[in-house]
Amino acid sequence: MTLKIVCIDCNAEAQPLDWRCRDCGGVLDFAALPPFSAKDIKMDDTSLWRYRDWLQMEQRITLGEGMTPLVKTEVDGRKFLAKLEYLNPTGSYKDRGTVTMMNHIAAYDVNEVIDDSSGNAGASVAAYASALGIPARIFVPESGSIAKKALIQAFGGRLEEVAGAQHLKTEACHKAAASTTYASHAWSPFFLLGQITAAFEIWEQTLPNWPDAIVVPVGHGALFLGIARGFKLIKQAGLIDIVPKMIAVQSEKIDPVVQGYESNAEVPPRVVETSRTIADGIMVDSPVRGKEILQTIRETNGAAFRVSDEAIQQAQVALAKRGLIVEATSAAAVAALSQVEAMLGENQQIVCCLTGNGLKNVGR
Ligand SMILES: [Zn+2]
Repeated sequence: MTLKIVCIDCNAEAQPLDWRCRDCGGVLDFAALPPFSAKDIKMDDTSLWRYRDWLQMEQRITLGEGMTPLVKTEVDGRKFLAKLEYLNPTGSYKDRGTVTMMNHIAAYDVNEVIDDSSGNAGASVAAYASALGIPARIFVPESGSIAKKALIQAFGGRLEEVAGAQHLKTEACHKAAASTTYASHAWSPFFLLGQITAAFEIWEQTLPNWPDAIVVPVGHGALFLGIARGFKLIKQAGLIDIVPKMIAVQSEKIDPVVQGYESNAEVPPRVVETSRTIADGIMVDSPVRGKEILQTIRETNGAAFRVSDEAIQQAQVALAKRGLIVEATSAAAVAALSQVEAMLGENQQIVCCLTGNGLKNVGR
């Protein structure tokens, strides 16, 4: 069975492989999400497919994604739980969404997929597409990370390098999407579906309690929204009393969500990056589901914080010395911990999502 998708603006029902509304260009989402039921968890499966009843999709491929460790650690004397999303098969949290998106797409007669990505999503889509025997073309900025481009190719993806600013690769991809299948980590609701399982895991891993706050680096915000949606479903199932405070972290060089949060806006303003940030995984000037990100922050009494490249770098080094080798983007969450503590006080149980593997960039 396929979950029904509709336009969030005009409510038109979409076709399964549409990436946005054919009528108004709006963002697509599920008409409704299935309720969460703890008794349906397949306890003998140590991947995110332990929630296969909830996912309501046939498993055509798995590379062992999900059920990432949640470990106790500390940086600068601040204790927190690190969700090691970077240990997913291709080294980033993206695999969680890619596996559900590609399982969905593979149910149809598709002879190619495309995506636009500065790195992690491209590698993830290339890996899953190749494993399914579907050719993948990934639009990347010419200026992007050499290591990540090499990884996309290693997984069998074909690179479409686009010169100029970040958004130009997205425009080129959208143009190409008119005549092929767009497996979009930013637009596809089926990508978001897999991200929701991160909340189910964190809930299982912190039983009998649950975290006070969850800190996530935010570009398009798929993991952030997935975790929030997941905890809302867990609350609706009567398994927790309150959804954890959702805290979004961005680079001070490109911070639409933080600006929107501070100005109490309904939708984040489109911002122009002042200069490149080392947190290249969250260089997004206009998140596709920006309105839902801001709503989520308010509903959960969360916050949005910006961090400097210097603070990110320090956090990255400190994490490595704790044995956690993450990319700069992931360290942004930890760089915001002093701001989180100033807001919440001490002795709160905080989960920081470490999203991308630092081994991709070591020595470059
Ligand atoms: Zn529409």
